[in-house]
Amino acid sequence: MQRILDNIIKDTRKWTIEGQVASYIPELAKGDRDAVGICVTTLDGEEFFAGDYKTKFTIQSISKVITLMVAICDNGKDYVFSKVGMEPTEQPFNSITNLEGHDRNIPLNPMINSGAIAIVSLINGNSPEEKFERILRFMKKITGNDTISVNEEVYKSEKATGDRNRALAYFMKSTGVIEGDVEEVLDVYFRVCSIEVTCRDIARIGAVLANAGVMPWNDERVISREVSRIIKTIMVTCGMYDGSGKYAVHVGIPSKSGVGGGILGAVTRRMGIGVFGPSLDDHGNSIAGLKVLEALSKEFDLSIF
Ligand code: GLN
Repeated sequence: MQRILDNIIKDTRKWTIEGQVASYIPELAKGDRDAVGICVTTLDGEEFFAGDYKTKFTIQSISKVITLMVAICDNGKDYVFSKVGMEPTEQPFNSITNLEGHDRNIPLNPMINSGAIAIVSLINGNSPEEKFERILRFMKKITGNDTISVNEEVYKSEKATGDRNRALAYFMKSTGVIEGDVEEVLDVYFRVCSIEVTCRDIARIGAVLANAGVMPWNDERVISREVSRIIKTIMVTCGMYDGSGKYAVHVGIPSKSGVGGGILGAVTRRMGIGVFGPSLDDHGNSIAGLKVLEALSKEFDLSIF
């Protein structure tokens, strides 16, 4: 495994020049375009690392998996999916047109921005601080990493420039999808997207999903088998945004990407995968990350299809 990972990273690094680091959040533009790293966490407790796996990056949309878990734990799946749909979209992750004209004008799915903002509004807590702390605590638990924290510069940058997310959120307030104070909901959303992780942290989240909701390193259950199955299914259909179909054909691993360059993969009964590479394709997915996962999937026959 180690030799294969080293070779995959070596072979895929060249792809980084084909993409661009996200710049619509100004602070993300400082990312290293050439970086590529990976961590694989197997369910029998082995961990493998290659490339720039030590680099910290902001979790961005991979947090949508975490907030969905917390919201379902707080409200039950039936209520959550009465507010947010389960359907994929051919529109970009921050599309406005996604919101109107579909089933009851609810966001299409929890893996795009509108859906995730609605999901964050459902999380229990008496204040935005308490809501955020509950999500952060869950994140620390599911990664087994007590040192996880927010990148304050990215948070400020995102909050200062997040007008499209504001537009989505105010629209959802007008249709009754979001209740309460919109700016408070957005503040929690921006903070959660700005949480800093490494490949190892997201590989561990993937390992919990791969293990049907149980943390493999201590056998503690964090979500039910059913919720784990639902989330992996939505990751297949929606996790790579409007690139999900092609990704399913080429890779076939339930995955979630973020514009910080991370991709989380969950291979049921086998492993969690965390990949990082901030150079992105037109859909906002890590360009080298896609190649790494494609090579890994082929090498170990990981496609679920
Ligand atoms: N924080 C980012 C945003 O709201 C997340 C988007 C992403 O990772 N695709 O735009």
